[in-house]
Amino acid sequence: MGAEQVAIVTGSSRGIGRGIALALAAEGWRIVINYHSNSAAAEETAADVRRSGGDALVVQADTADLDSLNALVDATLDRWGRIDVLVNNAGIAPRRRLDILQTTPASYDEVMAVNLRGPFFLTQRVAREMIRLLGTGVIARPKIVNIGSISAYTSSTSRGEYCISKAGMGMMTKLWADRLAEYGINVYEIRPGIIATDLTAVVKEKYDRLILEEGLTPIRRWGEPEDIGKAVLAIVSDLLPYSTGEVINVDGGFHLHRL
Ligand code: NAP
Repeated sequence: MGAEQVAIVTGSSRGIGRGIALALAAEGWRIVINYHSNSAAAEETAADVRRSGGDALVVQADTADLDSLNALVDATLDRWGRIDVLVNNAGIAPRRRLDILQTTPASYDEVMAVNLRGPFFLTQRVAREMIRLLGTGVIARPKIVNIGSISAYTSSTSRGEYCISKAGMGMMTKLWADRLAEYGINVYEIRPGIIATDLTAVVKEKYDRLILEEGLTPIRRWGEPEDIGKAVLAIVSDLLPYSTGEVINVDGGFHLHRL
C-alpha cells in the first residue's frame, strides 16, 4: 500500500498531524508535511517519515491564507504530480479562552479562518485536482479526511468560536461527501476526543483529573496522536469503501450518553 501515493496533511509538524504522517509513512506513503511557523518541528517530522519508510516534502502554508494553500497544492503537484489524500488537520484554539460574553470579533475571525474557511477552500482546490487526476487515470479512489472534534457537539462557553468552527466542519464533511460521491471520492470526519498534544498541554492537570480520576471517558486514558493516525490509516487503506460523510469518533467513548 501507499508506495506511490501522496497525502497532504495540514499541520503535520506537531501533534495529531504528525501522528497521522508517521502512521502513513510506515506504509510507504509520500507525505506533504505542512506547518505554519515551526519549521524545525516540520523538518524533524519529515526526517522521521523518511526513516519510517515514507517520503516527505515540507511546505509552509497558513490555512488562513488561501494563496498559501494554493501554493501548497502547486508544490505538491510539482514534486509528485498527484494527490491521493487530503487530511484537513491544522487547527487552533482561541489565543485566549474568553467567555462568549467577552470574546472578540478578531478571535472569532481568526479561529474560523484557520479551522474552517481555509479547509473548505483547500478541499475545493484539491477536489478539482483529484477530479482531473481521476480523469487522466493518474489516481484511483482518492479520499478526504477532516479532523473535527468532540467540540462539534459539546458546548465549551470559554471557546465558543472553536466549537462553532468544528460544528461547521461537520457540515463541511457532509457537503463534500455528497458532492464528490459521483467521482468516487469518499469524505470522512474523525472526531478526536482529548488527545495529548501541545494544544491540550495547557489544560493537562484538569484533564488528568477528569479522565483518570472521574472517568470522563469510559476508556480511562488520554488519546495519543497515534490513535488518530491508525484511524486515518484505516480510511486511506480503503477499508471503509461504502461509507462516506461518516464520522468516526476516536475519543475513548466520550460521545456516549451515560446514565
Ligand atoms: P497542535 O499540537 O497545536 O498542532 C497544531 C499543528 O497545526 C501544528 O503542526 C501547527 O504548525 C499547525 N498549524 C497551526 N496553525 C496553522 C495554520 N494557520 N496553518 C497551517 N498549519 C497550522 O494541535 P493538535 O492537538 O495536534 O490538533 C490538530 C487538530 O486536531 C486541530 O484541528 C484540532 O482542533 C484537532 N483536535 C485536537 C484535539 C486534542 O485534544 N488535541 C481534540 C480534538 C480535535 P506549527 O508547528 O508550525 O505551529
